[in-house]
Amino acid sequence: MKTCLVTGGAGFIGSHLCDKLIEEGFRVVCVDNLLTGSEENIKHLENKEEFVFIKADVSDPKTYKENLSGKYEFIFHLASPASPNKNSKMSYLAHPVKTMLVNSVGTHYLLELAKREKARFLFTSTSEVYGDPKEHPQKETYWGNVNPNGLRACYDESKRFGEAMTMVYTREHNVDARIVRIFNTYGPRIDPHDGRAMVNFIIQGLTFKPFTIYGDGKQTRSFCYVSDVVEGITKAMFLPKTRAEVINLGNPDEHSMNELVNVIAKKLKVEKEIKHSKLPEDDPTRRRPDVSKAAAKLNWKPLVSLDEGLTKTITYFKKHLP
Ligand code: NAD
Ligand code: UDP
Repeated sequence: MKTCLVTGGAGFIGSHLCDKLIEEGFRVVCVDNLLTGSEENIKHLENKEEFVFIKADVSDPKTYKENLSGKYEFIFHLASPASPNKNSKMSYLAHPVKTMLVNSVGTHYLLELAKREKARFLFTSTSEVYGDPKEHPQKETYWGNVNPNGLRACYDESKRFGEAMTMVYTREHNVDARIVRIFNTYGPRIDPHDGRAMVNFIIQGLTFKPFTIYGDGKQTRSFCYVSDVVEGITKAMFLPKTRAEVINLGNPDEHSMNELVNVIAKKLKVEKEIKHSKLPEDDPTRRRPDVSKAAAKLNWKPLVSLDEGLTKTITYFKKHLP
C-alpha cells in the first residue's frame, strides 16, 4: 500500500483530499498543527487503520526528525492559512509570519523530504499569485500584478516563493514536483469563522443578518466546488507528464459579489438587506481562471454547478452554524 503525506489535512480542502485518497486505497499520513483546521474534519477517518493523524508544525525542523521519519511515495503540501479576512482569527492576516514560514521554510523542508524519499510532490499555490490581475482570464503564463509588501503579501509572496522553490527542486535535485494554482473554492467543512465571502454570505442568509458587501460589490470571483478541486489535485499528482507543470484549478463561472448575494438570498428565500463597508487593501478587482491547460493535460473540468454546490454547502451549514 502506497503512502501519501498530506500537510494541512485537517483543513477544508485537505480533509476532502484525505477522504478521496483513503477511498482510492492509499495509506494517508495527515500532518496539521490545527492553526486554522480542526480535528472534527477528520474525526470520521481516525479509527481507520490506513489513516494516521500527526499534530505537528511543518515549518518546524523538529517535525521531520521526530514525526515524519517514515516512507512516503506522494507528498501533498496544502498547509497554510488561506482566508484574507482581517476580521477572522483564522486568516493569514492574523498569522502573517506563520503563513510566510509554512509556504517558504515549510515547502523547503517538504521538498527535502521528497528528495530523500524519491516521492512525488505537489504544492498548492493560489490564484493570489496573480494579485490584482491585469490580464483576464488568468492563464498560467501570466506573471501577475502583486504588491510585494502590502498586507496580502505574506500570503501572495510566500506562495510565489513556494512556487519558485518547488521549481528549483525539479531542476537542481530532479524532484518529481508540480504546482496547482487553486482559485476560490467552497463546500462543506469551510470553517464558519473563516471570513471568506461564500461562507459569510451563506451564514448571514441562514441567520437573517444583513449581507456584508465590501466596496461596491462589483468585484468578481469564480467559485469552484471542493470535489472538483480535489479531483484536479489528484489528477495533477498521479497522471504522467505533470512533472514541473503549473496548472490552474478553478471554475471559470465568474460572478460579482452583488450577483453572489442575489443568488444566495434567492436560494434561501430571504430578504436582501446589504451592509456596505470599505474594500480591503489590494482586494483583486476581477478573477477568473483559464482552465484550458487543466483540460488538455489532466482531462479535467469542473462538473459541479454553482446551484448544486450551494445546495450541498447550505445543507452542511444548516447543521454547523457558529
Ligand atoms: P484551511 O485553513 O482550511 O486549511 C489549511 C490547513 O493547514 C489547516 O488545517 C491548518 O491548521 C494547517 N496548517 C497551517 N499552517 C500549518 C503548519 N505550519 N503546519 C501544519 N499545518 C498547518 O485552508 P484551505 O482552504 O483548506 O486551503 C488549503 C490550501 O489550499 C492552502 O495551501 C491554501 O493556500 C490553498 N488554497 C485554498 C483556496 C481556497 O479557496 N480555499 C484557494 C487557493 C489556494
Ligand atoms: N467580501 C465581501 N464580503 C465578505 C467577505 C468578502 O464583500 O463578507 C469580498 C472580498 O472583499 C473580495 C471577495 O468578496 O472582494 C472575495 O473574498 P474572499 O474572502 O472570498 O477571498 P479572496 O477571493 O479575496 O481571496
